[in-house]
Amino acid sequence: MIDEIKWQWLSESVEDTERLAGWIASLVEQGTVITLDGDLGAGKTTFSQAFARALGVTEQVSSPTFTIIKEYNGDQLPIYHMDVYRLSIQEADELGLDEYIYGDGITLIEWASIIEPLLPPAKLAIYIAYPIEDTAHAVTSRTFHITGWGAPYSQMVNTLQHLAHIGD
Ligand code: ADP
Ligand code: MG
Repeated sequence: MIDEIKWQWLSESVEDTERLAGWIASLVEQGTVITLDGDLGAGKTTFSQAFARALGVTEQVSSPTFTIIKEYNGDQLPIYHMDVYRLSIQEADELGLDEYIYGDGITLIEWASIIEPLLPPAKLAIYIAYPIEDTAHAVTSRTFHITGWGAPYSQMVNTLQHLAHIGD
């Protein structure tokens, strides 16, 4: 059995999401896999952009919905940013996405649950929930449901809780 630690965190603004991305970026290492799920507009790409910036990417990070995968150079490691929304498991397999996922860089996968069978059991899984309200006001609160599956990700979640508690 692989251990599992869950933590929930409320982001009330894009800036909050950027802070969270910065904390997580400070804890990654070679081979880290982060999955991002949540409806369209939840903030998966916004999180990924802040995460890549925090890892030293200066190039503009765009949504990979159409390119499916984009590689960026961070200060220390390459970052593979994927969006598998338009893929089937078979197509993801044929594209060789596993070579990135099991490679030496840092992998971020938007809509990862679509390719669940191709994912490693150990990963940081993020589900971003947001209220859909019948209002003209932009709703900026998002709840990040974060699960660390297996070591070292469970440890990562413990450290994240600590970072969020001390507030930066
Ligand atoms: P996704 O990739 O999940 O489809 P995007 O990141 O492309 O979502 O879009 C999220 C949108 O929501 C952006 O326009 C962003 O500015 C906005 N937004 C509002 N509040 C937040 C928040 N707290 N965290 C992240 N994005 C937010
Ligand atoms: Mg997106």
